[in-house]
Amino acid sequence: MKAAELNTLQQLLNDSGWRLRFNEELELEFQQDYARRYYLHMQVAGIMGVIAFMACGILDLIWMPEMAGRTWFIRMVAGVPMWGPLLLSFWGKFRQKFGERYMQLSTCIFAISVVAGLIAISLNSIEPYNYYYYNAITVALVIIFVLSRIQFKGGVISAIIMWLSLNAGLIVFGPASNKLAIVIITNYVFIGSAASALMGTFLIERSLRQNYLQSRMISLENRNLEESNLTLQYLSAIDGLTQIANRRSLDRILTIEWQRALRKREPIGFIMADIDHFKVFNDTYGHQAGDECLRVVASLLKDYARRPGDLAARYGGEEFALVLTDSSAEQAGIIAEQMRDKIMNVVIKYKKNDPTHVTASFGVASMVPGSGHASPEALILAADQAMYQAKRSGRNRVVIYGHPDVDQKEQHTQQEIDR
Ligand code: GH3
Ligand code: MG
Ligand code: MG
Repeated sequence: MKAAELNTLQQLLNDSGWRLRFNEELELEFQQDYARRYYLHMQVAGIMGVIAFMACGILDLIWMPEMAGRTWFIRMVAGVPMWGPLLLSFWGKFRQKFGERYMQLSTCIFAISVVAGLIAISLNSIEPYNYYYYNAITVALVIIFVLSRIQFKGGVISAIIMWLSLNAGLIVFGPASNKLAIVIITNYVFIGSAASALMGTFLIERSLRQNYLQSRMISLENRNLEESNLTLQYLSAIDGLTQIANRRSLDRILTIEWQRALRKREPIGFIMADIDHFKVFNDTYGHQAGDECLRVVASLLKDYARRPGDLAARYGGEEFALVLTDSSAEQAGIIAEQMRDKIMNVVIKYKKNDPTHVTASFGVASMVPGSGHASPEALILAADQAMYQAKRSGRNRVVIYGHPDVDQKEQHTQQEIDR
């Protein structure tokens, strides 16, 4: 999915970009991004446009007071489609619902209104001031196209409408004398400036589109990288067969919890569990059944890591470990006893094999970090020694380090289980 998207983006980037159009979905997102990015820009350009358009009216009052009534009326009428949407654009709800979607359209209407207004004003001005307004039309056109971020397509349509209104105005209402010359000169200036302004909008839009594609590609690649990082982190922390923490995570978490316990002066409990006669299990039921057995035992043990900081891990082979925060040896011993009981009673079933049972031997230790020779390694070693003690004294039992007799009441030997 992501690879396909990356591919599409790369193809579009390799493409020259002259078409100024993406596929439907991408185009929609580009337009949304464009509107969001340039909303403020367009508002500022709009405010400046309205001020400039209205401010010229002051000159009318000075130069041709007899026409000022009319030209001001034109300004007001042409101003409605300009400041109307502009004012609305500041209203949050409107912006969300319509503002961004119709921003291009309202900017085009704005531009057409400015130019149409100027055409009407110049036609209603007396000589020689009307020529200033003819000039103002082209200046306004260039400024609008460069400042407002109108996209090329809208620019072309607006320019055609402006050009048609200019010619219609000139031909129908234009000055009686030298009409042809005025029409030709005005067209010459208008078409020249419109073409250069449109070329500008085209090039700007093209490079904005390319930038958009590039930034999308970068963010997509970043997301891919983050995901593979997470996968790698997961893979390096989890045991593939049993899906519980692996030895590496165990060492890491034990170090972290050790430091925490050191600050809080709390004990850390540690349980080492080893499945009994697992070699025989493998030999009897096959290696795959052995794998299944490891998965079942792991998922049972995982449920005993209940508190934050507790961790069940596969120590290696058929050995498992449990870190228990703030646990004395006795408390850890109770949990180990529960685990022993649970494992002994669970039914292991693999494919066509007969349902069977396994048992495990447990070594338990607890230390208060900072006291005596306590260290994470010493804690593991102590639990390991207790576990071997459990093996030696008949398996399927819990031995607490330093309390060799603590579990003498539990006498489920392997022979009993086998019966
Ligand atoms: P004990 O009661 O003394 O622990 O005897 P045991 O047979 O369990 O111990 P031993 O260390 O002799 O054998 C461990 C066996 O565990 C040998 C090995 O094939 C098996 N084993 C280790 N890792 C895996 C594994 O990932 N899958 C399977 N199926 N077996 C494994
Ligand atoms: Mg072993
Ligand atoms: Mg074993």
